Amino acid sequence: MSERRLAILNEMGLAPVWRLRRRPDVPATEEEESDWIRLEREVPACTACALHASRSQTVLGVGDRDADWLLVGEAPGAEEDRLGEPFVGQAGRLLDNMLAAIGLARGENVYIANVLKCRPPGNRNPDPEEVARCTPFLLRQIALIQPKIIIAMGRFAAQTLLGSDATIASLRGRVHRYAGVPLVVTYHPAYLLRNLPDKAKAWTDLLLAGRTVAGG
Ligand code: URA
Repeated sequence: MSERRLAILNEMGLAPVWRLRRRPDVPATEEEESDWIRLEREVPACTACALHASRSQTVLGVGDRDADWLLVGEAPGAEEDRLGEPFVGQAGRLLDNMLAAIGLARGENVYIANVLKCRPPGNRNPDPEEVARCTPFLLRQIALIQPKIIIAMGRFAAQTLLGSDATIASLRGRVHRYAGVPLVVTYHPAYLLRNLPDKAKAWTDLLLAGRTVAGG
């Protein structure tokens, strides 16, 4: 049983439910496979909040399910709702460029997900009820992926995962922990598109994350 996975599951109160067997050199267990399959079935069928009525489709996440890097955004936008993949619009292109700058690529040791799996109409902010209903899906993804680093992009991801209402500015620049997994907070790519000078700070955040992965 991996220490990392045990820590994650314990902290989420899921440990009694799942048997834990995976080592880094061992392929995903049948339990892990089947929870991905359950997520793939449950998320598109979810009607736990009103967003199900206005979505075109749910957006579970994309990438390498054994990734060291897990990037978490806020919620699908119009393009994501249309295509079923997170961060495929303009913010997504910036995110891909930022990943490339640190030698990473979407789907290669990287998994990308959102706090919400459905698009809030008109791209309004997620409301607390929606976040509460949807977060268990993200927590299950984290437990399955067992990333070495979580990058919380933007206020909603950071505040949801850290259970904090602090600002991004005050949460940046240090390594937090979520369920035993190191977590770095950075700006949301959509924010960076509007605030170009802060790209340098996001770059610093990614370097901090990279050092954390290398050291961990
Ligand atoms: N913004 C997000 O937070 N997530 C997406 O998938 C796209 C834009």
